[in-house]
Amino acid sequence: MRETDLLTTHFPRLRADQKQALEKLGLTTIHDLLYHFPARYENAGPTETIASITVGAEVTLYGTIRKPNTRKAWKSRRPIAEAILEDASGKIKIIWFSQPYIAKSLSDGMVVKATGRIAGTAEKIYLANPEIERTPIKPEDVHDTLFSDATEEHAQTLYPVYSESRGVSSLWIYHALKKCFEARIHETITDPIPQDLLLRYHLPKLSTALVWIHMPHTKENGESARKRFAFEEIFTIQLLMAQQRHDTQQKKSLQVQVDRKRLREFVSSFSFTLTASQQKAIDVITEDFEKTHPMMRLLEGDVGSGKTAVAAATAYMVVTSHPDGHTAGTLQVAYLCPTEILAKQHFETFISFFKDHPVSIGLITGKECRKFPSKLARDSATRISRAQLRKWVANGEIAIVVGTHALIQKSLVFKTLAYAIIDEQHRFGKVHRQELAQKDGLSPHLLSMTATPIPRSLALTIYGDLDLTILDEMPRGRKPIITKILKQGEQEVSYERIRKEISDGRQAYVICPRIDEPDPTKAMALQAKSVKAEAMRLAKEIFPDMVIDIIHGKMKPSEKEEVMHQFTQNNINILVATSVIEVGVNVPNATVILIEGAERFGLAQLHQLRGRVLRSSHQAYCFVLPESYGAQTRDRLRALMQAKNGFELSEYDLSIRGSGELYGRRQWGVSDMAMEALRNQKLVEAARTQAQELIKDDPTLTHHSALAMLTLERSHTLHGE
Ligand code: ADP
Ligand code: MG
Repeated sequence: MRETDLLTTHFPRLRADQKQALEKLGLTTIHDLLYHFPARYENAGPTETIASITVGAEVTLYGTIRKPNTRKAWKSRRPIAEAILEDASGKIKIIWFSQPYIAKSLSDGMVVKATGRIAGTAEKIYLANPEIERTPIKPEDVHDTLFSDATEEHAQTLYPVYSESRGVSSLWIYHALKKCFEARIHETITDPIPQDLLLRYHLPKLSTALVWIHMPHTKENGESARKRFAFEEIFTIQLLMAQQRHDTQQKKSLQVQVDRKRLREFVSSFSFTLTASQQKAIDVITEDFEKTHPMMRLLEGDVGSGKTAVAAATAYMVVTSHPDGHTAGTLQVAYLCPTEILAKQHFETFISFFKDHPVSIGLITGKECRKFPSKLARDSATRISRAQLRKWVANGEIAIVVGTHALIQKSLVFKTLAYAIIDEQHRFGKVHRQELAQKDGLSPHLLSMTATPIPRSLALTIYGDLDLTILDEMPRGRKPIITKILKQGEQEVSYERIRKEISDGRQAYVICPRIDEPDPTKAMALQAKSVKAEAMRLAKEIFPDMVIDIIHGKMKPSEKEEVMHQFTQNNINILVATSVIEVGVNVPNATVILIEGAERFGLAQLHQLRGRVLRSSHQAYCFVLPESYGAQTRDRLRALMQAKNGFELSEYDLSIRGSGELYGRRQWGVSDMAMEALRNQKLVEAARTQAQELIKDDPTLTHHSALAMLTLERSHTLHGE
């Protein structure tokens, strides 16, 4: 890094605490600062003047603070803070009741924006308890425009508000940027996006876009800049993905011997007929196996769409293939699961799929190892030592290994790993894909499976290095779930249903947003229901004759497992849980789920939770009970009721919110701005096509150094967490 890039070079008088604050915001270079985009803009005018206000109005005033001061109210002796606010049109008194410290943060002559309500009487009017923000706008400028070159028709001006940190305010950042622009530093930075792309997609060049995103003269300028930076972000992600795809295609895989007739026979031994989408998924994977480079594929399908059967059928082809040039031994399969419960469940499922075939299957978790078939009893599994399992995996005797993280430890070495399957892949970091790759230059085919339905444009971006297959069809004969939204006080409807189902031998889930500890940011009355308290209440007041137990994320794995075991055995009627049961757990006998505090969960999460009772051929019910009932909650929950599948729901979520709590930066490593741009399918496809073309010509971006830098940075944000 050059010295001229550093913020400290340009701002030599930075205090230590400011430096620290800047670092906390991730700002050390000029480039970082220029790319620290405003969190939002504020409309700076036209606003009220002090002369024009009336009692009772909510107002935003710009003015200068005079004579800040504290005193005691003359009757109640409560401390009061006061000041005068002055603008070109007049003066008004400000009073803060019981907030004497406010006066200490104000000084005479300070220019502020004050938002609050006008109180008092027409004769004695004052601004009550306003929020005060220091502002970069001079009061006399408010009714003109913020920027000198803004024209009359663009009288509307926006000023940026930045995320700040103790030590650097939004205002500081604003002035720092202004200084950069005045020194024309932004014009010295190479635009990473090739010019022909800018022209083709009508995007402003970097230097213009930087000014426009920070200090837009008009709303249109701001939007145009956002579009450019969103394209830039999506484009760099696509470049990364295109590079990874390119790398994959250079690798070699172990050759799977595809025998379609044998595969058909295997599949016909299933207890059900495949859905058309399952068959299609198996077909494309079969075609991938015939290529010489490894498959990298994502299989997305709603909970219950039957991903495991696709995994089993394709695994069958691998474990009936001999290693190249051999007539004995088979290629191996690894099946990675996020939890011990799931690993065991899939171990059992695979045993039932393969029980009539001479294939041995291993299980490895942090706690135990098992092998099927057992030497003594051909139709059951037996516990074996870790060392024994390692030996049999290393010599190829065990063909399929199902397991948790323990599966990817270095000590477990495969003889001929040809196929890795990752279940519920969103629970793992991306890293694990690489960890499953072999060292000797041969990479396994990879199938990532997920039940988190995400919009197509998001999938094409964050999983751009993978091919995408979607199971958008549910197995026949499954009754659509009945989803009901209840208001507070209507719980009884769900309790009746729970009683009825349990008396028919079924089971129920009750989901609460919290475990037990109080939420310090909320008053007691606003606390969401907790698993522990609600389980007690249900046992005492509602279902005294039923067996109720709890499960949540703070329990030890062994405790959780015991509870799940008891639930699977139908020794528990009602399981009160947090969203830990969200992932993959399969208890077909559970047919009702009641979700309390529903507005606290994202739409996709609600859909996942509902999926827990979609497992059987019995009619299933989902009751959704929000604590409060705003318009937004109502719309979202209505969508939950109406959507045919998770994909439809995720598209809906993207369309109403852009970046929701579930599709936010934190989860996917994508900024809110890019998330918004993902609504624009055309833009995403353009970015993808362009990235692939560019990587084809210049795989290492040797001839696009600015873009190479940006792409490198992007890879840190994407894989950083
Ligand atoms: P998921 O996609 O959520 O992993 P699973 O693979 O666990 O779903 O399948 C859910 C249930 O549906 C299992 O009990 C499975 O045996 C059953 N199943 C899968 N495919 C079909 C099908 N084509 N017809 C009927 N039942 C099926
Ligand atoms: Mg599954």
